Parts: sequence; structure tokens; C-alpha cells
Amino acid sequence: MEKVVIIGSGCAGLTAALYTARANLNPLVLTGTMPGGLLTTTSLVENYPGFPEGIDGYELVSRIQQQAERFGARIKFSTVEKVDLSNRPFAVLADGEEIKTASLIIATGASHRHLGLNSEAALEKKGVTYCATCDGALPMFRNQPVVVVGGGDSACEEALYLTRFASIVYIIHRRNALRASKIMAHRVLSSPRIIPVWDSIVVDILDVNKGKVTGVRIKNVKTNEEKTIDCAGVFIAIGHIPNTTLFKGVIEMDENGYIITRNGASTNIEGIFAAGDCVDHKYRQAITAAGMGCAAAIETERYLAEIG
Ligand code: NAP
Repeated sequence: MEKVVIIGSGCAGLTAALYTARANLNPLVLTGTMPGGLLTTTSLVENYPGFPEGIDGYELVSRIQQQAERFGARIKFSTVEKVDLSNRPFAVLADGEEIKTASLIIATGASHRHLGLNSEAALEKKGVTYCATCDGALPMFRNQPVVVVGGGDSACEEALYLTRFASIVYIIHRRNALRASKIMAHRVLSSPRIIPVWDSIVVDILDVNKGKVTGVRIKNVKTNEEKTIDCAGVFIAIGHIPNTTLFKGVIEMDENGYIITRNGASTNIEGIFAAGDCVDHKYRQAITAAGMGCAAAIETERYLAEIG
């Protein structure tokens, strides 16, 4: 039986692994389908303390993983299919294998929110994407106009990154002011390669019949006027939804599916802790996720010491 299993391998999960490893708990980390989590899709993390020049998101997560492994954390590329938290030890079914564990840290993160259009689903990977860092340099977007949807830091980051490759970047936002932090908003609004399109939503992505993105149909929410913007790519950056479906009905969550924690990282079930973007809809920073992972690990250590 495991002493502690950590589900998720982003900043929260790997920091929890580092701390529980240093507490000699020999943690087992189950990575999920996206090892390293969403941060691995970020090009440059400029606000993680200790890296004055910034650090590539993938590199940051890889370094935390190496640090955790140095103290004995085991990282397993595996996806959890089911959990049974009604008995002790808890049971986790991952890739067909049942793992029993005395304690559990949930650090499953969050996924990209979708617009919900049929054309969005039909054209995914054919010009519709959720990650400029992953796809922005593809030949199909080079020297072509592209569209970014959203008004937060992610949308700004995507738009700025895309100016390296695209001929012009339209940022389409449903309001007339960016939600992003001042520094990111300023960079976007002062870029000659980025054109903001305010008060507008995407109502359709063209052209499903051609099997590739040729433009977006947008509607001004104030005037109801519709128009088409020609583009080769649509980068959607409209926030996230927590990856908590596995725990529905068992672990207490809010109406949006974020896990509710109390007294730090504790959930409603003793011995089960949660950290990172699956809990936090407010800060969602690499450093806050790491901090929550640390807290979850310390509480796990205390819990295991208490139960002996
Ligand atoms: P976010 O701050 O929640 O912003 C989501 C944006 O998408 C908002 O502008 C929202 O519009 C818009 N939106 C949501 N649903 C929509 C829909 N159905 N249709 C059209 N637009 C929609 O999410 P985020 O940008 O991913 O950022 C998440 C967190 O990560 C934030 O705390 C952010 O600071 C952080 N982050 C930081 C950095 C950085 O510091 N470099 C980079 C990336 C992310 P409204 O504004 O009208 O609500």
C-alpha cells in the first residue's frame, strides 16, 4: 500500500511530491494525460520568484519534477479512471491497475474552456487551437492573420506570442476593456501587430466545409451587427474548467466544480487533500499552486503521523 498518492503533475502536484518525498513518504505521482500540466504550454513564465529573466513553463515544471525525484518521488505516466474513497485505504484505478493508498492529494488542475460552437469542435487542430505556444509556429499560421478570443492574461499572452509569426493578430473580447493585468494589457494595446475588436463574440468559425479555418463570424453584442474577419487560425483563451469530474458527488465542490478546501488543503474527507487549479479559481498562478501543493503535503504528513 502507498502512503501517499498524488493525482496530477503540475506545479501543485510536483511541489506536493517534493515535500512528501523529503518527509520520507515515498510519494507516487500519477501524471494524468498532460504531464507537467497547463504550465508546460506557457512560453515564458516571468513572475515565478527566483527567475529574474523568466523561465520557460516546461523547463520550470521539469525542474520541480527533478527536484522531487531527487528525494524519492516516483512519477508514473498514467491516467486515473476511477477512485473509491468510501473505504480506507482509498483505492485509485489508474490504467487498469488498482492502487491502495493511506492518503491522497488531488492536484488535477484545470482544462481550457471551450466556446461551445459546433464549428469550433469540427475545426479543432485544423486551425482552432487552445495553445499558441504549442501551435503558433505551425506553417499554416505563418504570415497569416489570426484571431485570439478572450480578454484575460492568457489571451494577451497568446496574442503577444503570435505576433512573432502571424501577419496580424485580432484579439476579440466580449467587453470593451481587458481583464488582464496592467502590464500585459499595456503590451497588447501598444503592439502595432495586434488589433483589439471590442464588445464582440465569435458566433461561428469558418469554414467547416473546407476542413480548415478561413475566418470567424463575429457579432457586436451592443449593436448586434455581424461581420466576418478573415484569418487562418483561432486561438481560444477564455479561461478554464477544473478537472474534478472523477470526484463528483464524493468530494465537496462549488457550483463550478472547484474543490472546496478548509483549514488549508483539507477536503470533506479526512486524509484527502487538494491543491492548485482544481481548487483555486481566484489566483491561478504557478506560485500559488506550488504553495498550495506545499500546504497539502505538510498536512498529509501530519495526518499520516496522527493515524500512525
Ligand atoms: P480569465 O482571467 O478567467 O479570463 C478569461 C477571459 O475570457 C475573460 O476576459 C472573459 O471575459 C473571457 N471569456 C470567458 N468565457 C467566455 C466566453 N464563453 N466567450 C467569450 N469570452 C469569454 O482566464 P485566463 O486569462 O486564462 O487567466 C487565468 C488566470 O491565470 C488569471 O489569474 C491570470 O492572471 C493567470 N495568468 C497569468 C499569466 C501571466 O501573468 N503572464 C498568464 C496567463 C494566465 P470577461 O472579462 O468578460 O469575463
